Order: sequence, then structure tokens, then C-alpha cells
Amino acid sequence: MQNRTSKVVFKDYNFNQNLLLPPSLGELIDPNHPVRVVNQVVDNLNLDPILDKYDGGGCPAYHPRMMLKVVVYGYLTNLYSSRKIEQGLHQNIHFMWLSGMSYPDHNTISRFRSDRLKGVLKEVFSQVAQMLIDHGHVTLKEVYLDGTKIEANANRYTFVWGRAIKTNTERIKKQLRELWAYAESVAKEELENNEPESFEEINAEQVKQTIERIDKVLEDKEVDKKVKQKLNYARKNWPENLKRYAKQEKQIGNRKSMSKTDPDATFMRMKEDHMLNGELKPGYNWQISTQNQYILDYTIHPDLADTSTLPAHVDSLVEVLGETPEVLVADAGYGSEQNYEYLENKGIEAYVKYNNFHKEQTKKWKENPYRTENLHYNEDLDCFYCPMGQPMTYLKDYKRKTAIGYEQTTRLYQAQNCKECPMRGPCNKAKGNRVIEVNPRLTRYKKQIREKLNSEKGMLYRSQRPVEPEAVFGNIKNNHGYRRFLLRGKEKVTVEAGLLSLAHNLAKLAK
Ligand code: SF4
Repeated sequence: MQNRTSKVVFKDYNFNQNLLLPPSLGELIDPNHPVRVVNQVVDNLNLDPILDKYDGGGCPAYHPRMMLKVVVYGYLTNLYSSRKIEQGLHQNIHFMWLSGMSYPDHNTISRFRSDRLKGVLKEVFSQVAQMLIDHGHVTLKEVYLDGTKIEANANRYTFVWGRAIKTNTERIKKQLRELWAYAESVAKEELENNEPESFEEINAEQVKQTIERIDKVLEDKEVDKKVKQKLNYARKNWPENLKRYAKQEKQIGNRKSMSKTDPDATFMRMKEDHMLNGELKPGYNWQISTQNQYILDYTIHPDLADTSTLPAHVDSLVEVLGETPEVLVADAGYGSEQNYEYLENKGIEAYVKYNNFHKEQTKKWKENPYRTENLHYNEDLDCFYCPMGQPMTYLKDYKRKTAIGYEQTTRLYQAQNCKECPMRGPCNKAKGNRVIEVNPRLTRYKKQIREKLNSEKGMLYRSQRPVEPEAVFGNIKNNHGYRRFLLRGKEKVTVEAGLLSLAHNLAKLAK
């Protein structure tokens, strides 16, 4: 036995102790706890858009205000699955307080998130953004835009490629033509006046009928074994395959790929490539605009590149804020002629870099006399002067459409005689006289942007950009561990992005 100099004393422990006046749950919650912010903010929201989604009749439903508080608080505390939130409602005093000791099960929580919030959460989010403006947490002055790719809840190996659909359809056309040619070689008279309208635009029904016709004329003939096998295969598979291809072609739209398990998800390269093998994964491009690290708007896109997402995102942002921001700051991923023109038309000052913005500032770039950007332009004569001082005169215009259908005009200028030029090696790799391509509108935009980005204000925005949306994404992905959407389909994924954005804003507000 241990030799003690003093008596051991324990605090009172009475497991079955009853309180004369049991405390309310609210008394047990810290006055500055984020759960109180969730409660207070959601209490002040107009939830009519969600209420309109209830049909009425049947059993009483859980109140959408309580459900919204519970789901948002789940996202704020890294509990994203409906089962985990259900567990929280039984075990966690904060959830119990929010729900007023109601216990909706995981199916109810999941249905509320997927169905009741679908298409209407943005209206609710907009009220929170307005509240942040009204209380001076954010202003409409400058807005920072960035995007991240988040994996979809879809099987990584169930891809459908737009090109494969086309190739397979072409293969069927070719083989059908071959089968028809074989049938003609065996029974030409019987197939006369019976030829399909076209082998070019084929569909499931037409292919089925053509195979039936071939079957019919070959039924009492001696047919090559291989042709028989092919016909059997075609009868069994081609109509079904063509139906599937037609459906997938519709779903895939302008994209190059999609996932079979979530047709709205596109295969894209993620930043987080733990295997370092550049594997493409099904995902969504999540765009946010922020200020003071609050999320002002969120949109979900199937696009691989950020460039094409800007107009849709800014349209949504203006709708959410009810006003147009004065300045938009974004990285080089958004710098394109179409985006500069779009922002100019909207009256938004663009602080959006373009590719090569940094390279252009280097000595090597500036002192390279052969670069088109460094050639002298004479506006009156509409000609450039090459490094030998020869005028490069206007040749022609050509128009081209970008992948998203935006028409660009490029002007071509040509040197007069490069034949004996001593600078030919470094200056002109082509056989004939050097031709340069200039896009005057883009050149004008680039000049404006360059001046703005190098101004004092521009330098400030540039230094602020990495600590704005990038830091917000870093917080959601690294601190909150959110790396994969749980729901499928663009609309439901947009709800998830909305809940994450709401939770982020309320957590920041609580701090
Ligand atoms: S190669 Fe042609 S374009 Fe280049 S410097 Fe000589 S003459 Fe001018």
C-alpha cells in the first residue's frame, strides 16, 4: 500500500442525481457558439421558396426552418451525410437544441436536402448575402472569382466519351452497309426497291427493319457462317446500342465525356492527384465569388476550363446581390476576349490576368525583337514593321469560333521579302514571307488590363486574390475535409455547394 501524507479527496459524483429545476438545453450552450448564429440567421430568413415546395395534406411534416438549421449546422460541423446528422440529433446537444428535440430520420433529412432545397436554396442564400452587405461585412466594390474541381459521387471507371459514341455509330453504319451489300450479292432482285432510305442517318428502328429485311431474303439461302454470326450479333445488339448512344449523345451535349453513374459529371483532371498519374475523374467545376472571405455566390459547371464559366457565374452573382459589383478580380484562367468584352458590356472593371501576363514583364520577352507583340505598328498605314524595318502589310481577316461559340476576328499581315534576309533563322521559320496574326480587339483589352494590373490598385488586388477565394476553398477542402460531393446530378450538387457556402459564411460570421 502506498504511503500517503494526505487524505485523497474526490469530487462529488452522484450518477442518479435529479435536479429540482432541470436546465433548458439553451442554458448549456455557450453564448458565442456558432450554433447560435445558425439559429439566429435562419430564424430571420424568409423561407417561402422552400414552403412552396410542400404540397399539403398527409402527416404533418417537420418544419423546414428547423430542417434547414439542422442541415446547415451539419455542414458547419463536417457532418455531411444524412445518417451522421441523424446521429447528431440523438447525441449532440447543439443539434438537439436546434431541432427542439425533434428527431427526423436520415431519409427525411436526405429528402429535405435533395428535393425541398433543389432549385430554391439560392433564393435563401441570396438573403444571407444581402444581410452580409446590410451589416457591412462585405461591400459591392470588388469581388474575387475562382473555381475548384470537386469529385462527383460517381464511379471513376464508368466514363462515356463523346468521340466513342460517334466512332461506334459509324462502325454500325459501315457494317450494316456491308451486310446489305452481301445480301444484295446473294439475292439482288428480292432487295430491289427495298433499300433503306439512308445509311447515313441511322436510328434503332431503321436498323432493326433493315436487319429484318436482310434476314428475310437470306432465310432460304446458303449464307456464309461469319455473315450469319454477324447478323445474329447485329439483331441482338445494334438497335439497343443505338438507342443508348442517342440517349448518351443528348446527355453529353457539348462535353467530351460524362459519367454513366452521374451523367451531369464530366471527367476532368483534379488538382488533388494523390497517385500522381494524371487520372481523369468525374467531377464538377465549382465557382465562387468572395469578398472579405465571405462567399457571395456559388455556381456549378460541367466545364473543364474556368474561362467559359465566367459569364454564367457573373449573371448569377448580379441576381444574388441585386446589383452589379464595380470590380472583378480573377486569375489568368479567366482571361479571354469573350470575358473581357462581357465584363465591359456589364460595366464591371476587369482585373483579370491573361496567359503570358507574367512572361510579358520579363526582360527576355521584352527584348525579343522577333515577337509579334514587340513589332512596331503604324496605325495610319495599318502596317507593322519587321525587325529589318520592312513594312508588313495587311493580308486578310479570318474569323474563327472558340469552343464555346464566340467569334474572334484575326488580321493577318505579311512581310514583303524574307528571301535573303540575314535574320530569317530566328525570325521566320515558314517557307515564304513571314505572316503574323493579330487580334486587334484582344490586343486592346490586354493593353488596358496590363496597365490596370500594374497600377497601385491592381497590385493590391493581385496580392489579395490568393487570400480570398483560394483561402476559402482551402478551408472547405482541407480544414473541413470536403473533397467529394455526396449527391448526384447538377441540381443536387448545386444544393450541396449552397449548403457548404452557407455554412462557411455562418461559421465566419460566428468568429
Ligand atoms: S525574315 Fe522577313 S520578317 Fe523577319 S526580319 Fe527578315 S524580312 Fe523581316
